[in-house]
Amino acid sequence: MRNVSFPSWIALAFLAVLALPACSKSSAEPVGVAPEPQGGEHREEATAGHEGHEGHEEHGEEKSDLDRSVEELFTAACEHDMPTHQCAECRYEVGVVRVPQRLVDEGLVKTATVSKQAGETAVELTGEVVLDERTLVHLSPLTAGVVVRTLVDLGQPVKAGQPLVVLRSSELAQAQSDFLEADSRTKLAQKTYDRQKSLRESGVNSERELLEAEQESASSRIRRESTRQRLVNLGLTEADIDDLSGKGMRAATGELVLRAPLPGVVLELNASAPGEQVGSGEKAALIGDPTRLWLWANLYERDLPGVQELRRKGANAVSIAVQAYPEDSFAGTIDFVGSVMDEKTRTVKVRISVANSDGRLHPGMFAKVRLTLPTTAAALAVPTAAILTDEGRDFVFINHKDDFFIRRPVVKGGEKDGLTEVKLGLNEGQMVVAEGAFLLKSDVLRSKMGAGCAD
Ligand SMILES: [Zn+2]
Repeated sequence: MRNVSFPSWIALAFLAVLALPACSKSSAEPVGVAPEPQGGEHREEATAGHEGHEGHEEHGEEKSDLDRSVEELFTAACEHDMPTHQCAECRYEVGVVRVPQRLVDEGLVKTATVSKQAGETAVELTGEVVLDERTLVHLSPLTAGVVVRTLVDLGQPVKAGQPLVVLRSSELAQAQSDFLEADSRTKLAQKTYDRQKSLRESGVNSERELLEAEQESASSRIRRESTRQRLVNLGLTEADIDDLSGKGMRAATGELVLRAPLPGVVLELNASAPGEQVGSGEKAALIGDPTRLWLWANLYERDLPGVQELRRKGANAVSIAVQAYPEDSFAGTIDFVGSVMDEKTRTVKVRISVANSDGRLHPGMFAKVRLTLPTTAAALAVPTAAILTDEGRDFVFINHKDDFFIRRPVVKGGEKDGLTEVKLGLNEGQMVVAEGAFLLKSDVLRSKMGAGCAD
């Protein structure tokens, strides 16, 4: 147990290490070890009587302290007939340093506890860009027809209600004719009824004649309504029908105008040439909005909980990459996660909506979707500054006992917010040197170099 107090210049000695040449014959003493100011009664801290570094010559062949067990390192004895870790001259050889409380108090060294942190993992999904089905309308005539005129071009923006294609349909012509007949019968029947009614009021005709006229009027209205409905079913609007009723037979051309029900762009135009046949229900044109796209991506079962966790938090944003623009990323939003898992691929479909106002994305493109998922298993993490590297090996200084710290190898993972995941080498709750670890590292390295120089 130490009972000497550390003067503040010991702390400065740690800093001085950095400024000293890496290898100097004139400095045979291990750096960071202060000569005992109060005399030599504490052999472990004394430099007097130290015979130099003869004993260090085998070090080149020795295993690194990082490859030896903690037990082995703490039971090793040095040439001064004491446990190496107790020897102020030699403890660095076994990767051990002392961190006096004073260094901690003065803020030169800070310690941290190994803690569990929710981790993250980057995931890449593959998918395909498609049109947003909510913007898509397939235009099909409800009766077979022949193209008379095409009023738009492929790729042309259109407004809701804009005429696209004019077809001529014999079925429609017949239906128009039937309607006009019923329409004129209705008008005539109404006139007859009105006349019979006024005659009846004058007592000229019989009650039966009035009832017959009333019945004829009613049945003609039913017939008119049924032929009108037929026109609606074939695709005519109320305005079209009023127009037909007003113009009569010369308007019963059988021409059917296909109009855009939604604003968008003409994405497909099959009825493009006059004379072309279009069957009932066949696709004449496709209207859609290519500035709003979907991306269907495949999500593996193992990543499903992470995506659901993100969605619970409302974190639906993803980054999308396509081959055509390898330098760019496109922003997307997960708006649907499928409920059915594909038995073969063990994936579920994820739908991502993507704004495409600049038109660079095209339906059919393959895309990669990048997202960062929270990992379900919490990982151990330490402040990033705690992890040091020596000859390509990562290590930390772990508190062993009292103020003894020993450097131990670790396998590190990803870094986030100043913390680095440690996959191997640490247990939860262990104390490590966080800030200032590099000062201690330089002591250990210095010791090694000192040995080299003395050879
Ligand atoms: Zn020694």
